[in-house]
Amino acid sequence: MASTDGGSYSGRCAHSLLRTQYSMMPAVVTSPRLTDLDRAALSAWCLDQGAETYRADQIRRWVFGKRVSDIDEMHDVPNSLREKLHEQFVLFDAEVVKHQIASDRTEKLLLELADGEHLECVLMRETSRRTVCISTQVGCAMGCVFCASGLNGVKRNLATGEILEQVLRLDRLLGPDERITNVVVMGIGEPLANLKALLPALDTLNEKGALGLGARRITVSTVGLPDGIRALAAHGKPYNLAVSLHAPNDELRNRIVPVNARIGLDAILAAADEYFAETGRRVTYEYVLLRGINDEVEHARQLGALLRDRNAHVNLIPMNPVEPLHLDAPSAVQMTKFVDRLEQAGINVTLRKRKGADIDAACGQLRLQEQTGSLDPSP
Ligand code: SAH
Repeated sequence: MASTDGGSYSGRCAHSLLRTQYSMMPAVVTSPRLTDLDRAALSAWCLDQGAETYRADQIRRWVFGKRVSDIDEMHDVPNSLREKLHEQFVLFDAEVVKHQIASDRTEKLLLELADGEHLECVLMRETSRRTVCISTQVGCAMGCVFCASGLNGVKRNLATGEILEQVLRLDRLLGPDERITNVVVMGIGEPLANLKALLPALDTLNEKGALGLGARRITVSTVGLPDGIRALAAHGKPYNLAVSLHAPNDELRNRIVPVNARIGLDAILAAADEYFAETGRRVTYEYVLLRGINDEVEHARQLGALLRDRNAHVNLIPMNPVEPLHLDAPSAVQMTKFVDRLEQAGINVTLRKRKGADIDAACGQLRLQEQTGSLDPSP
């Protein structure tokens, strides 16, 4: 259990009480998360404790493969080593403060971190796919006009263990015959602004002795930070790259994605081309369709011209309404026209279905409600 000056807690009442205490505390002292250690670091720790290094693999199998929620459930780990794990680490240090299940079986968790901050993660079910969508920062600095995550800026980066904990918590919602098949880093935050914590987390998800998910089943979505895209390519794993484009020209993109003003489409596309050249992975371009803003057939024509000679896939996402923003998805007819025009240009395009619509599953919506106090206080 996380040890804090405020003591341990459970349940919503205690949690609201503690949140008040947290706000008066300069810092929260917690034990390190077990998941902050990669395999090499955990092996080294085992050696330090006088245990053999294969114990690290045993421990990781319990955490990533066998879905334990308590160190005491790691039956083949000797008692003495378990005690040391208890003394020095926590397995999970976030608290699930809200768990929602949509009619399409999409599930969403609102987690409260040890310092009282909140983040969200989502589990989506589609045929045999079990996709989890995870966050990388508390808030976001990018300021995209349609997105709930950035409305109050960015507070801090998540640690590796906090990123992994989201996957592990969602994994524990699955039935015994279900397995996570895909991870998308499309939750709150800009992943490429937190590569230091993200890359070890992704590598752990990819590793055979941990979650063992193929690199091709892991997708990182970015607002388009060219240096970050290059760093991801240089990392040498063929993770999928998704670039959130949202506009086919700089004038419009500067309005929708403010950070574009100091980057520009040319630089983003050049970095994405390099990503494809180095990894062989086709890049996906995301485009949130905003009624009356970026949804005209002319925009589709421009987008087609931009991507025609690239090995690209376009993911069109109808705007998911966010309470304080007055933005909507286009009509079905308009969206079909947009798709048709892109297809005419020979572009590979998907119009995404909304998942979890009845639980506000778009990025950052729950966290925003928690911040503004409009979240239903019932458990
Ligand atoms: N910062 C990264 C990852 C987080 S946003 C990025 O920009 O890609 C990931 C995706 O969430 C965006 O591409 C956008 O498609 C989607 N998104 C955010 N808010 C949305 C909303 N209100 N409606 C529909 N999609 C949204």
